[in-house]
Amino acid sequence: MVNELHAAELAVREAMGLCRAVQATIDAGVLEKRDRSPVTIADFGSQALVCRSLATHLPGDPVVGEENAGVLRQPDQAGFLDRVRSELAARDVVADGETICNWIDRGAAAPSDRFWTLDPIDGTKGFLRGGQYAVALALIVNGRVEIAALGCPGMGNADSGGLVFSAIRDGGTRVAPADDPGDSRPVRVSDCGETVTARLCESVEAGHSAHDRSEVIGGTLGLQAEPVRLDSQAKYATVADGGAEIYLRLPVDANYQEKIWDHAAGSLVVTEAGGTVTDTQGQTLDFSLGRTLSANSGVVVTNGTLHEQVLAAVMASETKRDSTDGN
Ligand code: AMP
Ligand code: MG
Repeated sequence: MVNELHAAELAVREAMGLCRAVQATIDAGVLEKRDRSPVTIADFGSQALVCRSLATHLPGDPVVGEENAGVLRQPDQAGFLDRVRSELAARDVVADGETICNWIDRGAAAPSDRFWTLDPIDGTKGFLRGGQYAVALALIVNGRVEIAALGCPGMGNADSGGLVFSAIRDGGTRVAPADDPGDSRPVRVSDCGETVTARLCESVEAGHSAHDRSEVIGGTLGLQAEPVRLDSQAKYATVADGGAEIYLRLPVDANYQEKIWDHAAGSLVVTEAGGTVTDTQGQTLDFSLGRTLSANSGVVVTNGTLHEQVLAAVMASETKRDSTDGN
């Protein structure tokens, strides 16, 4: 499956270049004005580039992406589509609006026996803040993630174009600078076996993961370090590469179902680096149920060695919450 991995890496690297170029145009005033247009332009541009690239190299494969071109096709959005068009043209991808919308809509397939899933910009808030975000692409075959390419434009040296983590089931995880793909190295989780020295990462957004609950869990485990807060699947990459031992995603809203494109690439990057990924009940993530992980609740990611201990603390914190709720 090396050709498929290569195709995935190529697609992700192209999209990362566009995202970085658009991110560089964001000025500090944008956030105050709540103008989300840069992220929207980069979202559509990234999905267009990834789908175009996959269509060239793997024309038979469907893509289940987060976006579709419905809004872009509306006549009153012509100006917006033109901004996406000029971002692509600036990267030597010259196409008319209709072609661009068709690329984006190649990513509007339904999940099937074999498909790619794509988050063209995971961690949009990080993108807007100038922080971490990711271009996440994974191949799912019969409900299992087989290949992952996870582009993290904000990781690594500032002049490297970011890092691309790639994994093949049973083939391990590697990482390379986006601008120098030949310079790759294997990725391994940390061998830390003591929770007191373990480092935890979690979402910046308290609305995506319960910070109060992770604090309780950190107390149970005796963690000494403050949690590191990062947007996007850069958290999976950080655990895979030994920069942290634990990533917790603790449900805030019991009705929220995690999206497959938020976890497919990251989870394979971690497991192939020697780590363990389950939900908060210790169940394996089930990618066979469509666009969401409807059978799972939250995510617990560790370096493997600490998984049982961490999971026990996560489950104990739930019991504590239940009994507090009942009081
Ligand atoms: P993160 O950067 O790890 O906070 O995750 C960003 C992702 O969180 C986005 O891609 C959304 O799909 C997802 N998300 C949105 N709402 C929620 C929620 N209520 N709980 C968990 N994840 C969410
Ligand atoms: Mg996302």
